[in-house]
Amino acid sequence: MEKELEQHIKTELLRIKHWLGFPTERTAMRDYVSALGVCPSPQSITRLMDEVVQIEWAHFPSAAVLRQMAYVEKEKVIQKRANCPICEGVGYVTIWQLVTFIGENSLAFRRIEDIPDIPNEEQAYAFQRKMLATPCTENQIVRSAARKCQCHKAAHG
Ligand SMILES: [Zn+2]
Repeated sequence: MEKELEQHIKTELLRIKHWLGFPTERTAMRDYVSALGVCPSPQSITRLMDEVVQIEWAHFPSAAVLRQMAYVEKEKVIQKRANCPICEGVGYVTIWQLVTFIGENSLAFRRIEDIPDIPNEEQAYAFQRKMLATPCTENQIVRSAARKCQCHKAAHG
């Protein structure tokens, strides 16, 4: 687990630190951190803890119960993403970039620019052909890259 995420989980868990039964042992704490780690994003963890604090628990919730809740939360996020009309649940979209290299035989690049309004591979190659036909002193290529779809934000945030 990433350090940053672990820290976020611990911070979120502190919201119920004053509850009777809050884990004081390091190993018990680890179970709770791992349970919340099931959530697919920091925002998701916060949402889960929002839910936890709303419930009137008879006893301090076990790590297993929180893990179960985390799976439900994760399922919700996946479901929400699957409904995305842009990426159809993949979570990523293909973008096209113009890469300008420093020199003729260099693999180091001077800059990378996103090329807007290229919806598919065919048009990307058309763009590249047009570019190659234009006299240019710079060494450039068109390449595709994956970018997180905006539904990542929507589903998480
Ligand atoms: Zn999407």
